[in-house]
Amino acid sequence: MKVAFLDRDGTINRSFWTHEHEGGPEYWAGSDEPELLPGAAEGMRRLIDCGYRIIIITNQYPIGEGGITQDFYDRFTEKLLAKLRAAGVDVLDVFFCPHRRDEGCACCKPRPGMIQAALKKYPGIDMTESFFAGDSAADEGIARACRLPFFGVGRDGGQRIESLADLVRFIS
Ligand SMILES: [Mg+2]
Ligand SMILES: [Zn+2]
Repeated sequence: MKVAFLDRDGTINRSFWTHEHEGGPEYWAGSDEPELLPGAAEGMRRLIDCGYRIIIITNQYPIGEGGITQDFYDRFTEKLLAKLRAAGVDVLDVFFCPHRRDEGCACCKPRPGMIQAALKKYPGIDMTESFFAGDSAADEGIARACRLPFFGVGRDGGQRIESLADLVRFIS
């Protein structure tokens, strides 16, 4: 099984993370209604058409750091998945890290824990056919740690794309 590992905020949906001061706890300064980024649903549909399964890999340390609640995360994720389903996109699974950044967990990107967990749950994943796409240095880091090709959404490092719809130029 080939997998498109995708970051969530800033890659699939618009990101509203903000903080009062540098290094302070981040909170979500947007509504709890997810906004899909231009090209995201289209790009994900094309991935599925090309035989990829989609797994979301997302850092959610504001849960541990008190910026959002677990309940907010759960509701937001449910709405996002429903919105994607309505757009013809079935997501296989979502892995998230809720830990504080200073906790030293194994799953906070760029550490590879969430992809290791995905491989454990889905032993059929073929890493040589899979890739990672995301909009942050942590995404690039986990891709490198797992030796996956990396597509940077609106960022250099790996192959730069402007939206997930651009992936069609690289996949088959
Ligand atoms: Mg992101
Ligand atoms: Zn973690």
